[in-house]
Amino acid sequence: MFLFCSLSLCFEITARDILARSVKFSRVEASPAAPEIIYTVSMSKPWSHLLEVEMHFRWAQMPAQAELKMPVWTPGSYLIREYARHVQDFAVRNANGKELNWRKTNKNTWQIDTTGSDEIVAAYRVYANELTVRTNELNDDHAFWNSSALLMFPKDQLKISSTLRIIPYGDWKIATALAPVTGRTNTFRAENFDNLYDSPFEVGNFKEVLFTVEGKPHRMIFSGEGNYDPKQIATDVPKIVEEAHKIFGELPYDNYTFIVNLRGGGNGLEHMNSTALEFYRFGFKPDGSYKGFLSLVAHEYFHAFNVKRIRPDVLGPFDYENENYTKLLWLAEGGTEYYSGLLLRRAGLITDKDILGNASQHIQRLQTIPGRFETSLEDASFDAWIKGYRPDENSVNNQISYYEKGAIVAMLLDLTIRVDSGGTRSLDDVLRYLYKEFHKKDRNYAPQDLQKACELMAGHTLDDFFSKYVRGKVEIDYGPVFKGIGLDLQIKERSKTRGYTGLDLSENNGVLSVNSVTSGAPAYDQGINAGDQVVAVDGYRASQSFLQNYLVDRKPGDKIRLTIFRFDKLREIDFTLGTNERKDYSFTPLASPTDKQKQLYRDYIGAELN
Ligand SMILES: [Zn+2]
Repeated sequence: MFLFCSLSLCFEITARDILARSVKFSRVEASPAAPEIIYTVSMSKPWSHLLEVEMHFRWAQMPAQAELKMPVWTPGSYLIREYARHVQDFAVRNANGKELNWRKTNKNTWQIDTTGSDEIVAAYRVYANELTVRTNELNDDHAFWNSSALLMFPKDQLKISSTLRIIPYGDWKIATALAPVTGRTNTFRAENFDNLYDSPFEVGNFKEVLFTVEGKPHRMIFSGEGNYDPKQIATDVPKIVEEAHKIFGELPYDNYTFIVNLRGGGNGLEHMNSTALEFYRFGFKPDGSYKGFLSLVAHEYFHAFNVKRIRPDVLGPFDYENENYTKLLWLAEGGTEYYSGLLLRRAGLITDKDILGNASQHIQRLQTIPGRFETSLEDASFDAWIKGYRPDENSVNNQISYYEKGAIVAMLLDLTIRVDSGGTRSLDDVLRYLYKEFHKKDRNYAPQDLQKACELMAGHTLDDFFSKYVRGKVEIDYGPVFKGIGLDLQIKERSKTRGYTGLDLSENNGVLSVNSVTSGAPAYDQGINAGDQVVAVDGYRASQSFLQNYLVDRKPGDKIRLTIFRFDKLREIDFTLGTNERKDYSFTPLASPTDKQKQLYRDYIGAELN
């Protein structure tokens, strides 16, 4: 049953052997001046977790020293990931099979002495044993890869096209959104490196759910077993696509592929014509968990519009060797998170109460973190590379999530525009405007373009809104905005008669550890540190359940003695219980909403205000 093709039989132990035996590079049609690249990706020994890459590079202007580079990050996930660290067995020869000298000149660059040859063939293997939407995995079950974590590019040649030939293991099938080359088996063509790196691959014996929207084929690939219902998926997911189509009036691709790897996690990565998703094998039931899957699908799908086509300033074309800084991730991510809920609601897949419950949870979390006074949405976007993707125990005190606050501010913008335009405009119009004026004209938008578009739809300046809530870090005044659509954001104090420690604890193998310490909480003011291990309370062994029971009747001002390990030393701390200053947020209809408020609510969320 293992149907190796001829080239994969050529693979032996190392890439050096591949070079000695692989087939002669067949020249393809191209202008003499244009560099030509053909990759071959094979996987002859899946159990080794090594993906085998052969890269033929031909160029009439081949420099004396050619440089091949691995990307250091992948668009959509704003962290330097150093994909070069998984490259091994690099070797290179010329078209006649003569080995060429090479050296690494920095962490991700291989410099090759081309000795007058206009064609070089590099081969290397990439260790692939990490299943995330940003990395690569090869094992007995399947291969999944993010092309920016696998394929090298020639220095300064990101605009050139390339051909990619896949040699699957055994009878494995291939799924990718990259355009197939007519007449050639398992061969694909990328217009440029943004297109190539934007195209993940799944190779294996996956299942497919197919559907068509607006005449365009869509497929959802499931790799791995799980409790999903293909019929339900084929009914629900098209509705999400249809709702996005209603906003933009078109589906900007020929076909779309959802690649779903079933194992764990709820992650996704957006691409132009596809998305890679990870979801829990048995997370499709009960209904609440299934809605979580649909929400993930809607989020990543909406990115096909917001971020992949409505592009913030620096996000495409990309620099694959450095951080790409933008202040707009709050709209790219928070706005997309907001729209994932709206799409599901408009598709009838969740209720208006689901939307409002989700919004009140976002608000509640934002309002509990002191970081909201330290970092603005633009700051959080800009620093995603060093903060957003690298949370630590102090994040609660000096950071915000641009997903969470971004979703809240997108909602406030939407409602402001709806109310101030008398219900004639919304954030949909802003996105449509950006799509038409920027994407359609092949331009990226800047922060000031977004503000102008919002002001155009609201009919007046929004400088106060943007300077406070987008560029600034002042407390958000929610009330007046929600009142506009007939909602009252109710804020309830927690009990002031119950003693409170403010300890954020986790329990592993019987050890209670402090995760983080929120500034202003009793634990913070009394010198508890993140990482402290709470051993005992008043001489009793501490556990989460013991603390809950033991402190249930204690009052603010009561004293307890904490025994903790800080690093390797035991300490006693006399601790005074305080009060819990956190508040609970929920929505209720105004007591006497006007007809206009009722209408705006109905237009917004497709339900009656009650
Ligand atoms: Zn996203």
